[in-house]
Amino acid sequence: MPKHIPQRTCIGCRVVQSKRELLRIVRTPEGRVIADPTGKRNGRGTYVHKTRDCFENILGAPDKLRQALNLQTPLLSDDLLALQALMKTFPASDLSGNEMNVQTSEPRRALGKTTQTKKQAVTNRKSPTV
Ligand SMILES: [Zn+2]
Repeated sequence: MPKHIPQRTCIGCRVVQSKRELLRIVRTPEGRVIADPTGKRNGRGTYVHKTRDCFENILGAPDKLRQALNLQTPLLSDDLLALQALMKTFPASDLSGNEMNVQTSEPRRALGKTTQTKKQAVTNRKSPTV
């Protein structure tokens, strides 16, 4: 029997997932907003997927993050920069393989237009290079 795993909501995409899949962002008592990979720092925390999609989502709307953390002051640009740097270390998306083959800068637009492009993209992905 699996043990009960705590579930948290990603503030980027609102998906509820086990804590371990998410990265904790914490507001320190000093009012800094930092990533907390250990999940053990003091302060009010919130969770976000370790993906660029979700990070972009919250960094693009810092108010969301402030709200989640009940932060009264604007996010410090230093903290924002640190989170942005962190974001760059994450894969573009690891939630669904489908989004990995996004090659254009306007992924959503083509939706519903044609299903064939997807098939082609999957074939293209076969390349064994790592
Ligand atoms: Zn997410």
